Amino acid sequence: MLMKAETDSHTVHDIKFDNRFVRDLPGDPNPENNRRQVLGAAWSRVAPKKVSSPALIAYSREVSDILGFTRAFCESPAFPKVFSGNLLLPGMDPHAACYGGHQFGNWAGQLGDGRAINLGEIVNKASGRWVLQLKGAGPTPYSRNADGLAVLRSSIREFLCSEAMFHLGAPTTRALSLVLTGDKVERDMFYDGRPKLEPGAVVCRVAPTFTRFGNFEIFAARGENALLKQLADYTLRTDFPHLGDPCPEVYAAWFDDVCRLTADMIVHWMRVGFVHGVMNTDNMSITGLTLDYGPYGWLEDYNPGWTPNTTDAAGRRYCFGNQPGIAQWNLAQLANALYPLIGKVEPLQAAVDSFGPYYQAAWQDMMAQKLGLRSFQPETDAPLVKDLIEILTLAETDMTIFFRNLAQLDTDQEAIPKTTRDGESLPINMKPLPGPLAEAFYVPSQITDGYLHRLHAWIDAYMRRLKQDNRPFAEKQSQMNRVNPRYVFRNYLAQLAIDKAEQGDYAMIHDLLEVLRHPYEDQPGKEAFAEKRPDWARSKPGCSMLSCSS
Ligand code: AMP
Ligand code: MG
Repeated sequence: MLMKAETDSHTVHDIKFDNRFVRDLPGDPNPENNRRQVLGAAWSRVAPKKVSSPALIAYSREVSDILGFTRAFCESPAFPKVFSGNLLLPGMDPHAACYGGHQFGNWAGQLGDGRAINLGEIVNKASGRWVLQLKGAGPTPYSRNADGLAVLRSSIREFLCSEAMFHLGAPTTRALSLVLTGDKVERDMFYDGRPKLEPGAVVCRVAPTFTRFGNFEIFAARGENALLKQLADYTLRTDFPHLGDPCPEVYAAWFDDVCRLTADMIVHWMRVGFVHGVMNTDNMSITGLTLDYGPYGWLEDYNPGWTPNTTDAAGRRYCFGNQPGIAQWNLAQLANALYPLIGKVEPLQAAVDSFGPYYQAAWQDMMAQKLGLRSFQPETDAPLVKDLIEILTLAETDMTIFFRNLAQLDTDQEAIPKTTRDGESLPINMKPLPGPLAEAFYVPSQITDGYLHRLHAWIDAYMRRLKQDNRPFAEKQSQMNRVNPRYVFRNYLAQLAIDKAEQGDYAMIHDLLEVLRHPYEDQPGKEAFAEKRPDWARSKPGCSMLSCSS
């Protein structure tokens, strides 16, 4: 029930829900909230668990704008009640979705929204349809042996990273709010049998859809083909309306779109140095959004073999460099699930096969932009990029700083001294590190003569290539600065914000939210947020490795 003071606010009544997912797709007839296999249904109705004292830590202005919420509502006492699940607005219809998934390469059966509860869908005239979803609002029929809750540290990570990714230009689910519940949650963070009580929190995530590859896989695995078709038709109507009425050809075209959207998302991850960490098929969005911010991480030193997830440390299945290949593997699982709709292998196989060349071309295009080239010329640029990537792995090199500062090297100015003061030519191995790049290196002893020789040879080749393009320096630099961020949500910054928040100080969360709004702008006074990982964070949990415990 809404309380009088809260219903007085006209804004609450202006929020209209249009819950198409529950209206159009069959639900679980069993109203009990106990853990079970849910057959023949796409969702189960479930009430969020009441929390003891919800308090707002932060909200995203941009997300509240796209939902049409006023500042007055976001800053009202009702807001944390609504977005912790304590207070339902008229028209909300809370439910959890049924899905399955391949986890670490193996079919895992039913998973489902174990700690996510969809509140309802808002249709905004300007911005479209948005699903509001609470994460950590209590158990559902899909919670298996877990509690349905989320701790503050993982909620801070999800809230800030969703918004950071959006501002970086990568497709992602969004985060409206971060609310402290006032309750404690028990977690064994290191899986070492020493559980601790941690503060609980709820994030309200927002996306046009939260449907995952796994929502289709579960129906296909169970032979629930009618339901599979209903969900596919629903998805086409709602999220891919431009493709037309469902039929085998349209399903095939849709799958082809999903392959491209997924490839585009991975190209963005590779551009900004994001490692998802748990690319299971239940974490893959059907519309190519970055989904489920768990043990993700940001590349510090450029290392394609790096994975932030401790569960993945042995196999490195989900390391940075494997992300495109894993995306394609996941798409092949989705293709298997969609096969009953099409009844033919060829169009699905063709789409999976086209992922490779499509991704390759998009990645090359992206790398050309990172280097400030007008376009990617395979003859010259394939070897140039290959050589750079090898060099980046020879010494610990901060990916973000390297690319950002690379834009400062100029073909006209003698950025790199080539001569001594007396005008003699310097032998290549006596040239120092180019000033702008020096900051990017973590281990001075790795900058050997041999290394410098390679780096300078590459820079010389790169400068020659830039000269060919004959582009004004300022134009080239500003184009590079639009794709090479100054600020990313560095692992150690997340951990610092968490450490402070656990002491009741939320200022750094607000500072980060603000700085990460403009990741491509140099922000005077905010240099600290662009610094490379300090040494103390090199092997600190939370900074360099994360468990799935959240
Ligand atoms: P993830 O690895 O976080 O994508 O989660 C895999 C599955 O476990 C999903 O079905 C989640 O809903 C579920 N899950 C993860 N954490 C919890 C939790 N604390 N309570 C209930 N279900 C959870
Ligand atoms: Mg998940």
